[in-house]
Amino acid sequence: MTTKIGDKKEDVLLAAKLLKEGELVAFPTETVYGLGGNALDREAAKKIYAVKGRPSDNPLIVHLSKWEDVYAVAYPTAQAKALYDAFCPGPLTMILKKLPIVPDETTGGRDTVALRFPSHPIARALIEAAGLPIAAPSANVSKHVSPTSAWHVYNDLDGKIPLILEGGDSDVGIESTIVDLTGDEPTVLRPGAITAEQIKAVLGSADYYHGEIKEALAPGMKYKHYSPKVPCYLAKREKLQSACEGLKKQGIDAVVIATEQTAKSLSSAVISLGETAKDAQHRIYGALRDAEKFGAAIIEDLSDKKEYFAAMDRIKKATGGNIL
Ligand code: AMP
Ligand code: MG
Repeated sequence: MTTKIGDKKEDVLLAAKLLKEGELVAFPTETVYGLGGNALDREAAKKIYAVKGRPSDNPLIVHLSKWEDVYAVAYPTAQAKALYDAFCPGPLTMILKKLPIVPDETTGGRDTVALRFPSHPIARALIEAAGLPIAAPSANVSKHVSPTSAWHVYNDLDGKIPLILEGGDSDVGIESTIVDLTGDEPTVLRPGAITAEQIKAVLGSADYYHGEIKEALAPGMKYKHYSPKVPCYLAKREKLQSACEGLKKQGIDAVVIATEQTAKSLSSAVISLGETAKDAQHRIYGALRDAEKFGAAIIEDLSDKKEYFAAMDRIKKATGGNIL
């Protein structure tokens, strides 16, 4: 199959047609690029797992264009409406009890469904043109780094899908915050650009999930994620330079990934994460993919700065406990 990349209005209409026919298309969102299929079509959902090589117990997020669309797939709640009014369209995914029409293949056999309302204009135009809820995980091969440009998607999925809609670099750059609204208290299962504090300010309570990620929670979180094809290490700021030199002595051409402030103090090869936590979220996945041109990556440990919590969640998964 040849994979077309398109950014014209007719490409969006073609994408909508392909979705209605049960095919998959990749499309831009403000978080990362998604690999979309009709959320109500079990065969389309199965194709998503096959194309990504994703374990079938890892459920998909269903993308909608407006609040009224919830009624077709889930049981709406007052909390969900309050969060919708505060943050949507935007980088927030809410878990609600599902309606029977949503197949097990989309939800990994759960009685709940994850819903998101992306703000990217192409994503919104696509959902509206297709007139369907669109199931879409990140458009990367399973376990690889999530894509934040059409080119990233092409590198992972060329020949596997008919169409990639081009919509520029993803503005937010990391996946949505996931909040589970089906338990006693709103629980943030995956950190993202919208923080638990912001959700708490709207609902009165909300916290990050602190326990071990088990079957019944966000199953995707238990898998190794966001991994570049080269070894990645975490190091404290003051150790970055010496860790890099240490790897060089072993003949490994390492690169450091660090904030702009830290980068200035280093003489090694550096990929900058920019000056703010928002910059770091926006740049981290591109940086991890760029690091694949080197022999290894050493990433600055930013856990002492609260605002880097969501970026650090991804960095910790990419480094998988390798500390220098
Ligand atoms: P991705 O599509 O790759 O961003 O991953 C979607 C994430 O949402 C995964 O970590 C899933 O485990 C999580 N998720 C999706 N649906 C549900 C659900 N019904 N209950 C809990 N977590 C979910
Ligand atoms: Mg993903």
